[in-house]
Amino acid sequence: MAELYGGIRFIKGIGEQRAKSLEKLGITTLYDLISYFPRDYEDRSRLTSLSGVEDGECACVSATVCSSPRLHLVRKGMELLKFDITDGTAKCGVTFFNQSYLKNNIRHGEDYRFYGKFNRAGNFITVSNPIFEKEGKELEMVGRIMPVYRLTAGISQKILVRAIRQGLDAISDGLPETIPASTREKYGLIDVVAAYNLIHDPKSEEDIQRARTRLIFEELFVLSCALQRRKFAGKTRAGYKLHPLDPDMFWSKLPFAPTDAQKRVVAEAFGDMSSGRVMNRLVQGDVGSGKTAVAAACCWFAACAGLQSAFMAPTEILAEQHYATLSDMLEPFGIRCSLLTGHMTKKQKNEVYEALRLGCTDVVIGTHALLSEGVEFRYLGLVVADEQHRFGVEQRTSLAKKGDDPHVLIMSATPIPRTLALIIYGELDVSVIDQLPPGRQKIDTFAVREDMRERINKFIARLVGEGRQVYIICPAIDENELTNYAAVESYYKNLRENVFPNLRTACLHGRMKAAEKEAVMRAFKDGETDILVSTTVIEVGVDVPNAALIVVENADRFGLSQLHQLRGRVGRGSHKSYCVLFNQSDSPESAQRLRALCKLSDGFKISEVDLNMRGPGDFFGSRQSGLPATKLAELSCDTETLYAAQEEAKLLFESDPELKKFENRALAEKIRQFDDAMLN
Ligand code: ADP
Ligand code: MG
Repeated sequence: MAELYGGIRFIKGIGEQRAKSLEKLGITTLYDLISYFPRDYEDRSRLTSLSGVEDGECACVSATVCSSPRLHLVRKGMELLKFDITDGTAKCGVTFFNQSYLKNNIRHGEDYRFYGKFNRAGNFITVSNPIFEKEGKELEMVGRIMPVYRLTAGISQKILVRAIRQGLDAISDGLPETIPASTREKYGLIDVVAAYNLIHDPKSEEDIQRARTRLIFEELFVLSCALQRRKFAGKTRAGYKLHPLDPDMFWSKLPFAPTDAQKRVVAEAFGDMSSGRVMNRLVQGDVGSGKTAVAAACCWFAACAGLQSAFMAPTEILAEQHYATLSDMLEPFGIRCSLLTGHMTKKQKNEVYEALRLGCTDVVIGTHALLSEGVEFRYLGLVVADEQHRFGVEQRTSLAKKGDDPHVLIMSATPIPRTLALIIYGELDVSVIDQLPPGRQKIDTFAVREDMRERINKFIARLVGEGRQVYIICPAIDENELTNYAAVESYYKNLRENVFPNLRTACLHGRMKAAEKEAVMRAFKDGETDILVSTTVIEVGVDVPNAALIVVENADRFGLSQLHQLRGRVGRGSHKSYCVLFNQSDSPESAQRLRALCKLSDGFKISEVDLNMRGPGDFFGSRQSGLPATKLAELSCDTETLYAAQEEAKLLFESDPELKKFENRALAEKIRQFDDAMLN
């Protein structure tokens, strides 16, 4: 048996040159070779009679050459080889262009199998450059369902077909099974050897399906096991074991009653924190579902046990807002809160550092500034990260490293389709706040075009007249901060000078100094500004209950989930609220996407639509996607299989937590490779 992870030079026909070309396709080992799955298939298996071929049909016929092949020189450099074939039902003219060498391979009176695209006009049938092989020998490229591989220079279909066939033969007795027999039986999955053989050499459509089903399951199973193992590793780590407390002690001092969902999620988190193992929990909740109060409850729980909490927010404005909210909620309990942002003076920062080191501050709320070297804790027991997808895993971990295995709570307002959540946050436990506080109204959403500009402006003026405030999210021109900035400035200038000269307007963008931003935001919060023109810096979390309308320019340039986030800036108070989306694109897809958003108000549904329309790569922006590459599985489509694979992975780890059993060795190896690939 050949070495599965060994090289492929032993394969006939693969010399140094071709090995190099194959490397371009990602094939270096024997295992890579047999895992190089076809991108498509061509059915060259069914024999058609010549009389039955239709014009333009790709067909396979078995026929006798019934005229001597002749060379014709049509014009300089162009040679035609022509002859006729017949299968007894009809005659067909065959032409090869510039392949005069074939003259000696084709003999009058002999039988061949031809595959090609036939042309037909009445009884006049022709085919050009068909693939052919002599009948009577074992057929290689015709007479079967042909796999179609992605190619590169120097590598033809034929070379790949032959190499892969040899590769499969070489390991036919030694391809280790990665899916436990019980699982295969439960889901009717074929074994590994059969699957690899059938995916490359199927005899029927069903063969392809059976092979795919098994291989997709395998892919998702390995993925699930890898994540399960990480989760298991985290689970077994000891963590601060907090003495259980009744959450009602916390809830009773809040100005509102918690929703059932908030209560449930807090109970789950408290359960983790008193289990003796480290908490690693993701709290997902739609905009406005009240995640901050959940986080505050956890900070309260930690503080009651004498532990410090660090609360990390993605922007200064949010850090400040959270600081204000958490102080309000926690100070009645005598819990001391501090704020730490990058723009504070050195002296201010040093004071916070000192308080943290001495344990005089219980909860610190801050931006990335929390990661700086000066930050040391006396007893860091809890790390909270808000709007998690903006932070890398490393940042979360590096904050946690400032303590001794603190509990970790991550909050995401981007509802992630369950499929993706399982993968991206695979090592986390997930809680969902699937309920909004009572009294929230639906935000009426309209997708409009330029011809509505006048009416929208009147609407803005009317709402402001009623005492409400308005957000205008300005053109996202591109990813470039500079152009966006220029666009916002000129948009704002026009709005202030020409459109609403009598209203109080302000402008907010990412290039302003922190202090300026804060002042602008503060003024808007305090009701001193009627209209706030802003880039997406206000996207997450900012809370102004009096804002009742958000207008988004170039809405077609945003993802639906992001628009939903933006929309969540309004409707946070008791006022009827609206969202107007200017569609400046002509594409029908844009119109369709925006229409979907007008109808939907559930962030999870919206994220599913977004995912289906734009694919997972786009979902978080490809850079942040963190999704593993899969060969066959479509993470957004093969949901059922993923659930099943997750289930089976769990069962497997219950019976063999460290994958020590002999029959799981191949799986263990695959997981190791998966982990390596994820880390790179
Ligand atoms: P998000 O989940 O988007 O972070 P927030 O935590 O900012 O939501 O909460 C949104 C608003 O709802 C805040 O003004 C908060 O005070 C309020 N809120 C949170 N929970 C409740 C509740 N159970 N009842 C009423 N209002 C609530
Ligand atoms: Mg929030």
